[in-house]
Amino acid sequence: EAKNRGRGRYHFFTEELNKRVQDSISLDKNMRKALENDEYQLHYQPKIDIKSGTIVGAEALIRWVSPTQGSIAPDVFISLAEENGFINELGWWVLQDAIRQHTLWKNKGIDISISINVSAKQLLGDNFIDQFKKLLDDNEVDPGKIDIEITEYLFLQHSEENSKILHELHDYGVKISLDDFGTGYSSLSYLKRFPIDNLKIDKAFIDDYDSKRGSIFVDTIVKMGQTLNMKVIAEGVEHKEQVEYLSKIGCDQYQGYYFSRALNADDFETLFLEQSH
Ligand code: C2E
Ligand code: MG
Ligand code: MG
Ligand code: MG
Repeated sequence: EAKNRGRGRYHFFTEELNKRVQDSISLDKNMRKALENDEYQLHYQPKIDIKSGTIVGAEALIRWVSPTQGSIAPDVFISLAEENGFINELGWWVLQDAIRQHTLWKNKGIDISISINVSAKQLLGDNFIDQFKKLLDDNEVDPGKIDIEITEYLFLQHSEENSKILHELHDYGVKISLDDFGTGYSSLSYLKRFPIDNLKIDKAFIDDYDSKRGSIFVDTIVKMGQTLNMKVIAEGVEHKEQVEYLSKIGCDQYQGYYFSRALNADDFETLFLEQSH
């Protein structure tokens, strides 16, 4: 009986696994097809300067709007795209589209910096630096207005190569932000070795700002970042009290649903123009 149950479970397991493999194969195909069919969009979440309360930047966040499945969140496809290598192509589309939007806005007098998420795989891909510099040059973009968001995951592998690429970007004038700080493989030595301009405190710390220990963490990260000449940005701010706390401890910027979710380019523009007069 036990044997049967065991075999049954094994059977179930392979079916389950099979289904998962099939799902990821079809996701893999659909993801690539979606780029040909122009189904990806960038949405923009405002970055708020805490002192002035105004929008100083926008983070580009990818959306896959599938005609059959609706809007698909990046958490569903970015990690698969990293595994199967598609991230290089997709990431290149993201860079181009973000720079296109930045240029469009600049020409309308909307002069804000744009933050772009770049995965470690993409940074190490063929010619990332040359292609990226050429993209900025061709569009006469001020590199200081472009901010590349990386995660601590990048430090785990090929850290020598990554460090070289980040230094090259930084020397060119592009800003580097460390995203989701505190959730990954944080090591203070990385903050020393890599040219980080901005530290983004992960939402998990911001959620917990009102417990005794939680507030010590947020406070300490802000102080440490600023002592190292970094700007510190709080992620995932959902309540007024969090903004008040962040203001009290002198945090530089925040992002979060309290101010706005990521919006399509038109809606972002409307919001920006509303708050700027
Ligand atoms: P991230 O870069 O840390 O982006 C922040 C995520 O938190 C976004 O989710 C954003 O919509 C969400 N968020 C912002 N404020 C709040 C808030 O107040 N509350 C809550 N609950 N969530 C908030 P999203 O857009 O689903 O993106 C998830 C992740 O996918 C991003 O995390 C980033 O790691 C990745 N990603 C998004 N776009 C790209 C891209 O173009 N390229 C790459 N490589 N990764 C991307
Ligand atoms: Mg980010
Ligand atoms: Mg983040
Ligand atoms: Mg994240």
